[in-house]
Amino acid sequence: MSRDKKLIIGNWKMNLGVHDSSLFLHRLAGTVKIHRNLEVIIAPTMLALQTLSLQVNYKQFKLAAQNFYWRDHGAFTGEVSATNLRGIVQYGLVGHSERRHVFNETDKDTRAKVQAAIRNGIRPILCVGETTNERTAGETRDVIHDQLIGGLANITSEELSQVVIAYEPVWAIGTGKNAVPTDVTEAVVTIRHQLKHLYGAKAANEVQVLYGGSVTADSAADYLALDEIDGLLVGGASLDEKAFSTIVEKAYNSVKK
Ligand code: PEP
Repeated sequence: MSRDKKLIIGNWKMNLGVHDSSLFLHRLAGTVKIHRNLEVIIAPTMLALQTLSLQVNYKQFKLAAQNFYWRDHGAFTGEVSATNLRGIVQYGLVGHSERRHVFNETDKDTRAKVQAAIRNGIRPILCVGETTNERTAGETRDVIHDQLIGGLANITSEELSQVVIAYEPVWAIGTGKNAVPTDVTEAVVTIRHQLKHLYGAKAANEVQVLYGGSVTADSAADYLALDEIDGLLVGGASLDEKAFSTIVEKAYNSVKK
């Protein structure tokens, strides 16, 4: 996908039931402007995905799964696969810090999920980022490096064009402490450098890289103004109609017309 396109993702996490998700999407549909260079992606709970898929105007919104299992079918009680999600979602979050740190998902899990998503025609959004301790210890680059190598092993340069990377420092997620733009630039330069090393300059420069971590209506424009950033992954503020609409409006204003 072209890097002229900005992605804004609303991660609703384990909030809003089916009815409330549907109502919220309906209200957002009244404010979100459509542009070919803007993709607004909603990640509701798994249960709400099908209902939203029937109601959504795919020109206005795309849908993302917050999680999925990496096997396609079989005896895996309680799991939902990327194959099950085919035709319902266009994107899938992989390696979100809550999956890594609350559910102990490893790079091996994220790698299998990135592959499962691609195999099923779903674009994986691979989240990478360091914890407070890792940051304090000066290990940010190493963590990003390891999570990229771990998540992208076996992905070809052709498949890389399907992958979105989200830089989400763990200490900034849901904490109200957002990374300053210079830190974000530095991390994204590290990400592209690593991708270049793995896939060459052309493939690396075409990958969309997002920032996520306590983005608000007030801070969104500062990140969107960075050349290195192709969009935002928004948690808390995506549950506030006014805040999320403002973030989307700022992204709309920032895209090439
Ligand atoms: C997220 O869930 O990926 C996230 C960035 O959350 P928040 O915006 O609340 O920090």
